[in-house]
Amino acid sequence: MEETIKCLIIGSGPAGYTAAIYTSRANLRPVLYEGIEPGGQLTTTTDVENFPGYPDGVSGQQMMADMRRQAERFGADIRIGTVTSADLSSRPFHVVIDGTTQIKAETLIIATGASAKYLGLPSETKFRGMGVSACATCDGFFYRKKDVAVVGGGDTACEEATYLASICRKVYMIVRKPHLRASKAMQERVFNTTNIEVMFNHNTAEVLGDESGVTGALLRCNDGKEVKIDIAGFFLAIGHHPNTELFADQLTLDAEGYIKTEAGTSKTNIEGVFAAGDVRDPHYRQAITAAASGCIAAIDCERFILSRAE
Ligand code: NDP
Repeated sequence: MEETIKCLIIGSGPAGYTAAIYTSRANLRPVLYEGIEPGGQLTTTTDVENFPGYPDGVSGQQMMADMRRQAERFGADIRIGTVTSADLSSRPFHVVIDGTTQIKAETLIIATGASAKYLGLPSETKFRGMGVSACATCDGFFYRKKDVAVVGGGDTACEEATYLASICRKVYMIVRKPHLRASKAMQERVFNTTNIEVMFNHNTAEVLGDESGVTGALLRCNDGKEVKIDIAGFFLAIGHHPNTELFADQLTLDAEGYIKTEAGTSKTNIEGVFAAGDVRDPHYRQAITAAASGCIAAIDCERFILSRAE
């Protein structure tokens, strides 16, 4: 087993990379494991236009590649691999990578992010990657001039529906309530887009398809009536769940599974374990807020290590 790592960072989105930049500059020699989606959720978006410092926008892929390079410039040890278990019962913490490699870490910064939710229908699983997607900006292009559906009534669903409407022939928004949850501005955008049809009070009963992929969806209205729509793409935009399964019985989580941190800090209920980014933030979920919380975690971690050394 290699010698105890001073600062282990799990996750490679803006939170993880920012934590790596700060902790490497503080000479904590951080090791960062990228996880199953190197670069995190931003690598599945197109342009990021609201991150300060990029007046012309930047692709999510490019931004993550830049953050990674910046962390490496200061000596962060960025490794391919996924943490498969972590024992936080005593320090140093015992962590297993890819089920085989055992490592010990003095401190831990958890920046494992959040993942898209799915409805849980077997037919949805069957056609995942064959018309079923949770990322319009990644996959919308495949449905140019075709009809598609977006499930959800939040800001993400509205954003994805308007994006798809610019590429596709028609977009159905399948909304389970009689109203949208999204901000007024996003709602207006949807209602002002002529090729979006919002189907309020509808749930998806089944995704329909054949060997070529998705061909339609069977919807059930809240009054019990069923309707079939013909679509080639079925996009989920019903929120995210935090990637905290590994720590569920060790860290204090909120009702939705997000890691709870001490107000104004990144400190979890276990000394030496810090959380940053979407894994602890159900509200803001922006690249800039994730990056900022990665910075906070790095500084909290550095102070913790210094306080131990005194
Ligand atoms: P939200 O949780 O805000 O919305 C999820 C939507 O999916 C709701 O309409 C919800 O319905 C619906 N939903 C959930 N589960 C199901 C289900 N099983 N079947 C059908 N529908 C379902 O998630 P978002 O990802 O939209 O947004 C998350 C956060 O990120 C929000 O704070 C949002 O404001 C923010 N955001 C901001 C953006 C911006 O400002 N540009 C862009 C994107 C997100 P119901 O309303 O009935 O619960």
